[in-house]
Amino acid sequence: MSSKISVYPGVEITTEDVRSQKYLLTKYQTGLNYAWSSGVAMGRFLRGLKEKELWGRECDGCQRILVPPRMYCESCYRPTDRWSRLRDAGKVVTYSIAHVNSDASRRSEPILLAVMEIEGASPLMGILHLLGEVPPEKVRIGMKVEAVWRPDGERTGAITDILHFRPMTRSR
Ligand SMILES: [Zn+2]
Repeated sequence: MSSKISVYPGVEITTEDVRSQKYLLTKYQTGLNYAWSSGVAMGRFLRGLKEKELWGRECDGCQRILVPPRMYCESCYRPTDRWSRLRDAGKVVTYSIAHVNSDASRRSEPILLAVMEIEGASPLMGILHLLGEVPPEKVRIGMKVEAVWRPDGERTGAITDILHFRPMTRSR
């Protein structure tokens, strides 16, 4: 893997292109008012993040520990049984090196997105998050990682309370 793409095919649409109406542009105002409940399982998970804790749900039917947690096991068709505290660490099960932003503009530096299997949960139970503090060419499937938390007083009970995961530095 020594070849690196330096010139991408196609033409990027710039903000100036949009402003000058080089492309069809439609503006409209929506009036979307709604309330959304995170639910029992996700609510507890999000509150845990505020305390730098990861929580899963155990199912006695299939012996799995589910994360993100749910109150109902989709495999057994029965309620899950209890909460289980997980480590804020895990391993990379899949990842992507993204060279474009969500608005399709190109990034000068790639961003790393990965699914982390969380330690203490069942195999392949994990969360999607950012990988940081590692160059793309060093990322490997199975790489041990740990959460990097937002500082105390800045966490709000959101998945972004974890800034990113990075290669494991803690001794075990
Ligand atoms: Zn189950």
